[in-house]
Amino acid sequence: MDDLKLLIDLHITADRQGPGGEAETRRAVELSGLSKRRNLRVADIGCGTGASTLVLAKTLDANIVAVDFLSEFLDVLRSRAARAGVADRIETVNASMDALPMEPGTLDAIWSEGAIYNMGFENGVRQWRTLLKPGGVLAVSELTWLTDGRPAELEKHWRSQYAEVGTASSKMAVLERNGYTPIGYFTLAQHCWLDAYYLPMQKRFPDFLAMHESDAAAQAVVAAEELEIALYAQHRDFVSYGYYIARKTGDAP
Ligand code: SAH
Repeated sequence: MDDLKLLIDLHITADRQGPGGEAETRRAVELSGLSKRRNLRVADIGCGTGASTLVLAKTLDANIVAVDFLSEFLDVLRSRAARAGVADRIETVNASMDALPMEPGTLDAIWSEGAIYNMGFENGVRQWRTLLKPGGVLAVSELTWLTDGRPAELEKHWRSQYAEVGTASSKMAVLERNGYTPIGYFTLAQHCWLDAYYLPMQKRFPDFLAMHESDAAAQAVVAAEELEIALYAQHRDFVSYGYYIARKTGDAP
């Protein structure tokens, strides 16, 4: 059983594949200033089964390119979009986020919730910038330290999982040195982790294990998630996702 198949089986029936919420996506849209504009072209990168894609399609006058490297998630996204009556405004693209097929300078906005870490925040914002039109908007959520210091066990865990975990000020600096002006920031509240993501996932563990006859790899996936959930519950004042909204500045960063 390969890791990707396990990832798909654990997450494909979920409303979302990472922490977040409809109200939070709407808040980012508001901060982006895009609501007033018409006929936009927006990409949602690492879209999963479409939690944010559907909100973007409902709130913006836009055509959305929804990108994920797992075609199984895109299949679910398409049926959710059809049920929501927005299928005609969403195009799915099965591609890797570090080799996107869109033409440079063609996007009014790039959205990405809980996914940019897969290529690293700095690498992502640098590469994706070329796809944006001048003045285009980037809106990404990213694992973020909420305070200057934090418990050692929390630091050790997340550093081993994601070397680029950092504070909001360090992420803003990354945006600035890569040719963006930060225009909005907020953090995801605890319900975005627990009610919207971790607790529904915990409810799926028994079926997931049964489906895989409790083989070692499936058990290891559940154990790793349980560890992450326990760490979050214990240290939720120190870590969350930050939602960063920024505008592409003039051509040379
Ligand atoms: N934005 C969604 C999904 C977040 S989970 C939500 O918030 O619910 C991260 C997503 O990134 C998954 O759907 C995963 O399949 C996708 N992903 C991971 N690595 C990727 C890559 N290299 N290229 C494209 N998508 C990737």
